[in-house]
Amino acid sequence: MASVGIVGAGIAGLVAAYYLKRRGLEVTIFEATDRVGGFMQSEQAEGFLVEYGPQTLQRTSTEFEHLLRALDLEEACIPASPLAAHRFIVRRGQPVPLPRTPLELLRTPLLSPRARLRLLAEPFIAPADRFTEETVAAFAQRRLGAEALDYLVEPFVAGIFAGDPKHLSVRHAFPQLHRLEQRFGSLTWGAIRSLPERRYHPAPRRSMFSLVGGLGQLPQALAQKLQGNIVYNATVVAVRWGDKTPWTLTYRQGAHVANQLFDVIICAAPLHQLAQLEILPSIERHPLPKVIHPPLALVALGFRKEQVAHPLNGFGLLVPAVERSFQILGTLFSSSIFPNRAPEGHVLLTTFVGGQRHPELALLSEEKLETLVRRDLERLLGISGPPVFRRVWRWERSIPQYHVGYDAVLVCLREIEVRRPGLFLAGNYRNGISVVDAAKSGLQAAQQVIFYLRQEAAGGAAKILLGE
Ligand SMILES: Cc1cc2nc3c(=O)[nH]c(=O)nc-3n(C[C@H](O)[C@H](O)[C@H](O)COP(=O)(O)OP(=O)(O)OC[C@H]3O[C@@H](n4cnc5c(N)ncnc54)[C@H](O)[C@@H]3O)c2cc1C
Repeated sequence: MASVGIVGAGIAGLVAAYYLKRRGLEVTIFEATDRVGGFMQSEQAEGFLVEYGPQTLQRTSTEFEHLLRALDLEEACIPASPLAAHRFIVRRGQPVPLPRTPLELLRTPLLSPRARLRLLAEPFIAPADRFTEETVAAFAQRRLGAEALDYLVEPFVAGIFAGDPKHLSVRHAFPQLHRLEQRFGSLTWGAIRSLPERRYHPAPRRSMFSLVGGLGQLPQALAQKLQGNIVYNATVVAVRWGDKTPWTLTYRQGAHVANQLFDVIICAAPLHQLAQLEILPSIERHPLPKVIHPPLALVALGFRKEQVAHPLNGFGLLVPAVERSFQILGTLFSSSIFPNRAPEGHVLLTTFVGGQRHPELALLSEEKLETLVRRDLERLLGISGPPVFRRVWRWERSIPQYHVGYDAVLVCLREIEVRRPGLFLAGNYRNGISVVDAAKSGLQAAQQVIFYLRQEAAGGAAKILLGE
């Protein structure tokens, strides 16, 4: 039976291991920490349910639906409340509802009359040259105007990537928008003309959901199926390839360093860790470009309902960078989105601080972070008095930023795989940053492993027949 060593028990590594184990392969996952899930961490305490990483999932992939079914998690899925369709963006210090229809967009107080008029020009603006790589900011400013960039696009980019639209590549970070422009000439025509297509080839329902025990329940369910296959507190430091021998994986567990042999390796550690991993013998190749993973802090605060003046009737609010008197990136109204996030009579608010906009703030002490968040929420949501529940969590390196020039990263990753047969790479740095994208990349790595082993077996049989 072929053996597979997997580096990292985030969603990508777990999904790869799960599929390969089901195909009868011998899998071992090495996880640097004492828990599975990577960013997917949830905690239930004092009647509150806090997410420290991803907050919601989108039903966008059939494979992911199959995974939930195979893990018996369908019953545990909880849809987001219809309220979650409403969002707020801060303008002149006040949360303003985000327009949801073209008519609302043309009337919204979120944009000046001039900026709304500018939106009407969008269908008539020529698409960019296919080969020019544009930043999200340049794309949005060209198509929608400067004010729409500031109040509609920038806050979402900060909310999704914790990133800066002035550096993110539109083609890599938001490929759907890039494709829409290239294919239909404009976003407006693209949205209109792809409607019949979507009707005839419906994608899985694009609805938002979570799990009753929090999203951490998904990696836990995978770990259950992989009992005995995970080595905890084991940091992989090197993988060595031998022409005629299998791969040697070297890991550190406390003061102890050990080697283990595998036919195939999947590296599902974050990109910044892959850059540190020794792949031996080293090969002449393009150096892996540096990719920024900005620090991000989450501050979850629980209040009694009467402490909050705002009705919290939505998904949450986003603060544009141009609203300079605030320091937070945005706040999710967690207990308005899902039913079981706060005890009766209470609310839970999850606020994000830092990212590329203010990386230094994410590194403040827990007390300073709480003070900063409460100061902003007092003004934005009319919060009064101290919270009854508090949790602060920090990711020193969060989401990989797909900046302009990201092609060079992808080329380098491909080069590693091509020149080191039997080594495969998976994670949120390949095809998208969402949990579903990372899971898909784990599944793809598993499929490549099966294909590779079949080819090896066929090659081996051919060699025997040829007497080599
Ligand atoms: C705050 C935040 C909010 C987010 N919100 C959402 C959201 O709402 N919806 C959504 O879809 N996505 C969201 N994301 C993105 C999504 O959570 C991640 O992109 C995805 O979970 C990444 O999965 P992964 O398996 O690629 O990597 P990771 O989750 O980073 O897992 C990698 C694993 O590898 C381990 N590891 C690292 N180095 C080594 C080593 N040398 N040896 C052994 N093990 C190692 C790590 O400990 C970790 O367990 C969010 C991310 C963050 C940070």
